[in-house]
Formats: sequence, C-alpha cells, structure tokens
Amino acid sequence: MTLVDIEANLSDTERELRDSVHKFASEVMRPAGRALDRLSDPSDVIASGSMLWQVFERHRELGLDLLDGDDLGLGPVERARVRAMVAEEMGWGDAGLAISLGVAGFHRMFARLSGRPALIERFCAQDRHEIGCWAVTEPDHGSDTLAVSEPSFNDPQIRANCVARKDGKEWVIRGQKAAWVSNGTIATVATLFCTIDPSHGFEGGAICLVPLDLPGVSRGKPLDKLGQRALNQGEIFFDDVRIPEEYAVIGAPAYKGALEMVLALANASMGTIFVGLGRAAVEHAVAYARERVQGGRPIIEHQSVKARLFKIFAQVEAARALARRVYVYNSTHPPLVQYSIASKVFCTNTAFEAASGALQIFGGNGLSREYPVEKLVRDARASMIEDGCNDLLSLVGASKL
Ligand SMILES: Cc1cc2nc3c(=O)[nH]c(=O)nc-3n(C[C@H](O)[C@H](O)[C@H](O)COP(=O)(O)OP(=O)(O)OC[C@H]3O[C@@H](n4cnc5c(N)ncnc54)[C@H](O)[C@@H]3O)c2cc1C
Repeated sequence: MTLVDIEANLSDTERELRDSVHKFASEVMRPAGRALDRLSDPSDVIASGSMLWQVFERHRELGLDLLDGDDLGLGPVERARVRAMVAEEMGWGDAGLAISLGVAGFHRMFARLSGRPALIERFCAQDRHEIGCWAVTEPDHGSDTLAVSEPSFNDPQIRANCVARKDGKEWVIRGQKAAWVSNGTIATVATLFCTIDPSHGFEGGAICLVPLDLPGVSRGKPLDKLGQRALNQGEIFFDDVRIPEEYAVIGAPAYKGALEMVLALANASMGTIFVGLGRAAVEHAVAYARERVQGGRPIIEHQSVKARLFKIFAQVEAARALARRVYVYNSTHPPLVQYSIASKVFCTNTAFEAASGALQIFGGNGLSREYPVEKLVRDARASMIEDGCNDLLSLVGASKL
C-alpha cells in the first residue's frame, strides 16, 4: 500500500464503512468511470443501459443513507469522519461519478433543514429514488452567483437569468440555469438558487426545491467537456414553473448566509473527493515507476523519479490532513467557510499537481489513453473551476481573514 490511512482511533464501524466504499470504488466506480469517459457522445452517458445506472443502483445498495440517522451508533465526529472518508474513497474511484452521486442527495439536506414535515416526506422518502442537483450557475453569471464577498453581489444592475415571483400561495419561476448544472440532464429534483428580489442583485435570492417533472421545465443537451466526463451536466429551463410557497426553503434575508453555508459544505466535500483523486495519481505513479525499466533499472531507482514521487506523496498527505480536519470541524460546528475554501483550493490544486506529476513519471505513456493518468489530469483540471473558480473562491475566503 502506497498511502496508508494514518487516521488514529478509527472505530471498527468506521473502518468497515470505509473499506466497503473502497471496494465499491474499486469494483464499480473505476471501471464505469473509465468506460463512460471514453464515450464520445455525452448523451450516451445517460442513455438507458448506460453503466451510470448500475453505479447509482450499487451505490443505493451500499446503504450509506444510514449515515443520515442514528442507526449505526456513531457520534457526530465519527459520522463526519466517515463521510469524509467515503467522499475520499469515491474520489479515488472516479471523481466525476463521486460528484454525481454526491449532488444526487442535495435536496434532502434542504428539505431536512427546512424542518417542514411535508417537505421531508415529499423529498426525503428513500423509496422515491429521486436524483438531485444544485442549480446556481446561469448562462450570464458564474462567479457572480458565488461572489458573496464582492460589492457586485448586491448590485441591482447585474440582472439574473432566473427569477421567481410570488403569485398568491405559489412561486412562479422563469428563466434558465447554465449547462454546468451537474446531474442537470437526469435530476428529478433541483435545489434551485434563483433571484426573488432583483433590487438587491444576487443577494436578493432564494433557495427552492423544484420537482423537475412540473409543467414548464425543459432541458438542454448534455454538455461535452474535457474532464469528469462521467458526470452529466446540462441546462435547465423554467417557463413559468409553479411551486407551492413552502418549497422555497430559504428567502431573501437569509440567502447570503445560506449560500455561504452551502459553499462551506460543498467545498469541504470537494476537498476530500480530490484528495482521493490525488491518492490515485500517486498510487499509479509508484506502481508504474516500479515496473518501467530505463537505463537498465526500474525508473523508481532513478533519483529524480524518487524525488518527484515523494513530493506528490507528501503534497497529497498534507491535503488529506487539511481536508479531513476541515470536513469534520465544519460538519460538527457552525461552518467556517474560509476553511472549506482553503481545503477546496488546496486539495484541487494538489490533485492537479499530483496527476500532472504522475503523468510525467509515465513519460509518453502518460499521454496515452491506454493508461489511467491522462484522465486524472483532465478530471483534476475541471475541479479547479467546479463549485467556484479557485481564484474567485480565494477572494471570498480572504474576506473572512
Ligand atoms: C465540473 C464542473 C461542475 C460544475 N457543477 C455545477 C453545478 O452542479 N451547479 C452549478 O450551478 N454550477 C456548476 N458548475 C459551474 C461552476 O460553478 C462555474 O463554472 C464557476 O462558478 C465559474 O463560473 P464561469 O464558468 O461562468 O466562469 P466566470 O465566472 O466567467 O469566470 C471566468 C474567469 O474570470 C475570473 N473571475 C470572474 N469573476 C471574478 C471576480 N469578481 N474577481 C476575480 N476574478 C473573477 C474567474 O476566476 C475565471 O478565471 C460546475 C463547473 C464545472 C467545471
């Protein structure tokens, strides 16, 4: 084993859960992620019969929903630590699929947070097999929608593409979310971030749960992109879509704080997922360096190769320590968004450096699609833009220092 999990004092339950998810990542996610990455038409990723659906099915069978309740007898810290380890293992398996499975349950968090029994019953029932997404980015607004620290965030001159207005006891949603919505092509429920008070720019927002089988909802084509190709993404259009007023779980006064909380939770997950990708890169690099013979010796015996391997190993271990610590703290305390952003930015940058370093160790073979590391480079590169560009996130984090 190249990277040992040196987390001290894990309970047997934690270790068993981590190991069962590792098996799932190895036996189900990796082969599916590789096959889906190869499909030249992203519509095939979501076609009936695609391996994607087996991944969802096998993921359900793992029973990780038990982590939402008390049935496993884990305390809050242990539960958070298991969640962090689960996310890391899934990122090790396939980062795009890890994101797809992760956002699939996003709506449940908001239904529970609302504390409204009708919403919990409607959106959290396990047997409904809903697939969620979070729809924030708009065709004309990416960073704008997340730039909570910038004066532009409450600038009424910056007009949103997706707006909801009140009509009696309903909200009526009109507009569009961008092609970047993860699970946008397959989701059955959207956690929609939309504007309800344009006089406050993006700060006048709301978070609504929107079943996507309602009249007036339509979708765009699946997005064709560089990395994380197993993660389907696509536009969602809302043409006067009506939802009951109680489906708006966060209103304008609380919107900015809620968005920060979402960033804190999502960025902490991104950190752990991309530690998993970094680990995969280091493991592939070490295995290849042991096998590949040049100058009459396995390349791992050449000093510069050894030094490069050790550098990416140390970077990934440092990222892992940060990601896990932030994840556990922010899951068990009022979250500090700057720490989650530090984790996301550091771990995604590290994942990219580790994947790129691994590719260098593979030499020409690293560029070949016959070998696994070029995919890791592409998947990691996408993560530096996903859930907020790292540059913009750093500005938000810096505003808290
Ligand atoms: C793999 C992936 C998955 C994604 N999943 C989702 C999802 O599930 N849901 C969703 O809603 N969105 C999703 N996104 C979209 C993502 O959140 C946006 O791409 C991101 O917020 C950046 O927006 P943009 O692409 O419009 O870039 P822009 O905002 O146009 O930024 C372009 C460049 O300008 C810089 N920039 C912009 N504004 C500022 C500023 N104020 N100060 C300094 N620099 C600035 C940026 O850092 C960047 O380098 C995903 C993206 C990717 C790549």
